[in-house]
Amino acid sequence: MKIKGLQKTSLIDYPDKMSCVVFLGGCNFRCGFCQNSDLVLEPEKQPTIPESEFFEFLDQRKGWLDGVTVTGGEPCLHKELSQLLAGIKERGYMVKLDTNGYNPVALMQIIDQKLVDYIAMDIKTDRESYPKAAGIDIDISKIEKSIELIRNSGILYEFRSTLVPPLFNKGIILNIGKWLEGSNKYVLQQFRAEKTLDPKFKDVKPLPKEKIEEFAELLKPFFKKVEVRI
Ligand code: SF4
Repeated sequence: MKIKGLQKTSLIDYPDKMSCVVFLGGCNFRCGFCQNSDLVLEPEKQPTIPESEFFEFLDQRKGWLDGVTVTGGEPCLHKELSQLLAGIKERGYMVKLDTNGYNPVALMQIIDQKLVDYIAMDIKTDRESYPKAAGIDIDISKIEKSIELIRNSGILYEFRSTLVPPLFNKGIILNIGKWLEGSNKYVLQQFRAEKTLDPKFKDVKPLPKEKIEEFAELLKPFFKKVEVRI
């Protein structure tokens, strides 16, 4: 597996756990607001951390870290993902996987093989606006298959949205609530306009805190738990 980045400690990526974060390159989406554009567009140009070096790091951190967050790009694109996750679990760490949910077959294999303890799936926007947000033509049935897999997996999970202002309004928030109704946890994340895949998102002003809290209130009837990350 070509590991493209390692953040050695994080208190915010894996809920209630101290984790390190592993970045994998490449993605099948082209979200204009993506903040990992180098990793998405030019993964081959990013330095690679040898897997052996990463596992050595994990062996040294035993007792200090609870888990590993595996993120991207899109981790589920990599056929070596199962092997990487198995190596992490063999060392006694919990695994959290971040995914855009567009590869339900890979997701199913990982769940079946019990290689993951927490899944965070992005919900880019409502069903109708998905292609606009993801920047590609979308077969929405793949997203819906992943949603069902995750909900029925028995694994801890969250669905989460980054609130990019042009892609979210009250109507879209309510559509998402109805679409995912009955799910355990939905997280609303603040958008930070830093380096973005499409430069036009760089100057987009983040939504005010009050607006995000208003969205959270609207969503509460649809989910067991709604969280705001600002
Ligand atoms: S934000 Fe979109 S393009 Fe960027 S890594 Fe996530 S799914 Fe891929």
